[in-house]
Parts: sequence; C-alpha cells; structure tokens
Amino acid sequence: MSEEKPDPATALIHHPYRPPDGFVAPQVGVHKASTVIFPSVAALRARNWKSKAGYTYGLHGTPTSFTLEERIATLEGGLQSLLVPSGLAAIALVDMALLKTGDHVLIPDNVYGPNKELARHELAGWGITHDLYDPLDLAAFEQALRPGTKLVWLEAAGSVTMEFPDLRELIRLARAHGATVALDNTWGAGIAFDPFALGVDISTQALTKYPSGGGDVLMGSVTTRDELLHLTLKFTHMRMGWGVGANDVEAVLRSLPTLPLRYAAQDRAGRALAQWWSRQPQVVQVLHPALPGAPGHEHWRALCTQAAGLFSVVFDERLDPAQVDAFVDALRLFKIGYSWAGPVSLAVPYQLAAMRRQPAWRGALVRFSLGFEAVEDLIADCEQALQRSGLA
Ligand SMILES: *Cc1c(COP(=O)(O)O)cnc(C)c1O
Repeated sequence: MSEEKPDPATALIHHPYRPPDGFVAPQVGVHKASTVIFPSVAALRARNWKSKAGYTYGLHGTPTSFTLEERIATLEGGLQSLLVPSGLAAIALVDMALLKTGDHVLIPDNVYGPNKELARHELAGWGITHDLYDPLDLAAFEQALRPGTKLVWLEAAGSVTMEFPDLRELIRLARAHGATVALDNTWGAGIAFDPFALGVDISTQALTKYPSGGGDVLMGSVTTRDELLHLTLKFTHMRMGWGVGANDVEAVLRSLPTLPLRYAAQDRAGRALAQWWSRQPQVVQVLHPALPGAPGHEHWRALCTQAAGLFSVVFDERLDPAQVDAFVDALRLFKIGYSWAGPVSLAVPYQLAAMRRQPAWRGALVRFSLGFEAVEDLIADCEQALQRSGLA
C-alpha cells in the first residue's frame, strides 16, 4: 500500500471524516438509505425491523421517516403509524392486512371513490365480498353487518357529497359486531375530531392533503393504538414493500407545524364561500357539513367546531349540465383538478348518477376546495364565471 495519496475510488467511499455530533436545528435531517450499515455480524443477525429500536434497511425506516410516523401518530391521537406511498395505498394496506378469502367488508356509499374500486376489483378477485351502506341510515347499517363482516370503513365527512355520519353510533354497532373499524380521516386531518376517542381501531390519512399542504407530495398514513393490530399492518407493509422517499417525508415534516393554521384558514374561507353559494338562486343545496341543512350537519355539530375547506354545490336540475361545465371552464382563479388542501383553489364537476346507488340530487354538482387566495377574489371569480357561462 502506498503512503502517498490514497486511491480516490476507495477513499471517497470510506472517508474517515465524521461531522461532529450535536447539530441541533428545528428541522429534521433528510436521511436517505437503502443500505443501513451494521457494526458487526452479531448486530446484523440481531436486527429487529419491527420496532424503532434500531435500523435495518431503508424500506423499514430512517430517522426521518420514524420522526414523521411519530408525529402523525400524535396528530391522530394514536400510538403507532405507518407511512405508505399515497392515501389510496393506506386504504389498500388496511384491506390487504385484515381481509382474507371469505371475509366481508362494509364501505359507505359516499366513500373516497377508489376505495370502492379496490373492493369491486382486487378484493372481489380474492374472494372478499363487500356491501355499500348509506352512512346516514343506522338501521340499514346494522342490517348490513354479516357474520363474516371483518372490517367496516368510515369516512366523515364523506367524499364529494360531504354527508357527516353519526360516527359514535356506527362505531358502537360495528364494534358490538366484532368488526375492526377503519376511518379514512383525510377530511378531519387529526384536527376536526379525535378518531381514537370515538373508538376507531385504525385511522388512515392521505397526507397528500392537509399534512403536506403543498400539492406536491403523495403519501398516506395508517395509525393505530393497538400494538398487535399495528404489527399485523406492519408485516403486510413490509411484505408489500410500500416505502416512502425521504425527500417527500421531509416535505411533509416541513409543512406539519402549520397544519392547524392552514386548516383554520381554509375552513374560514370555505365557510364564507359556501355561505355565498347558499344565497345563489342557481343552487338547490350546498353540501358543507358546518352549514345548517346540510346532510349530517347535526352529527358534525355534536363532534366538531372545525371543518375542512371543502364543499360541493348542487345546481338546479333544470340547468343544462353543459352550462355548469362551462361555468367551471370560465373560472380563472379556481383551477380544474383533483386533490385538495394545497395553496391553489380547485373546482371539479361530478356526475352523481354514476357515483351513488341512490343519488339524493339530480342536478349537476361542483366540488370546491379552498386554497390560500383572498376569499373576496374567489367569490368574485365565481361571480364572473356565472356571468360568462350565462348561468347568472
Ligand atoms: C385524496 C384522498 C385519498 C387518496 O389520497 P392519495 O394520496 O391521492 O392517494 C383517500 N381518501 C380521501 C378521503 C381522499 O380525499
């Protein structure tokens, strides 16, 4: 071996410099790894990926991902959390970990649409059956529970039509039946109500929405309070290989401290715009759980003071749906696109007839999600679009 300059091929990889310990900053470091290095063979053999006592492989956790898991668990009022690549993957993880051939799952008719698609296609293909229930009809829900019902999904408020169910009663009935209760808590975001105090077993979130808040990250979480249930989910998570990237985790960690502020601001703007819509003659119903007269408003009021900045309006069925589409096209500040809770306000027209077993409304529906623009400008945008589309 030469005493001179070391060969860069080796020296750049096995470099002796170590930065000093003790670097303290508000933000967590971005630790990226597939390989995690063990100090010895004994340490490698003793590896334990099931707890946060150490590190085994990037897929199972890094200081960055452990930190986000712990913070999401705290946000949700849970004890353990798993991160997955999207909100939809969080739903899929729960289904795959808990359901086996012959089992039955109950899903609310107003659930996030892809949850139903997963049941109709993948779950059905594996011999797992499902039924859809009306989240506002407790008697029908109780009747829909079957001996094989292993899992019950809840969502509050539901997607697009925003009905807020009687969570307490649904959870009581499902638990009395012995089913595991999973809530898609994307709307509540850990802010509007406390899912574990209500008795859910699992709370999932699309971190894509409020926790990210930037419209630039896809991620999901699955949170529990029961260690055994957590381990069941974690085994499936490990076997499916559903890891998340450290840069995305860092983006969510960076946004998390402002979540309560953003939730409150978008709630204020959402209610102001929803109230404006409730005074427009073209609209027969504003679907915002905090507005009196909205379906499930009394259940929202019994549980929450806050709401997500998200609501839908149902136009008079005598209006041509093409004209409602033209209204959406005429919006300037509201952009046309999916997801919500980011900085840009969004509008999406939906066709209820294709989405619900028994749609309660026949008119065209538009869902609005509030970004951070000035609400007066957003109201003016809706006004000009009503004019330009001939609806005013
Ligand atoms: C957006 C959303 C999801 C899915 O989240 P992605 O990260 O986009 O997959 C799941 N549930 C609800 C209620 C949502 O709004």
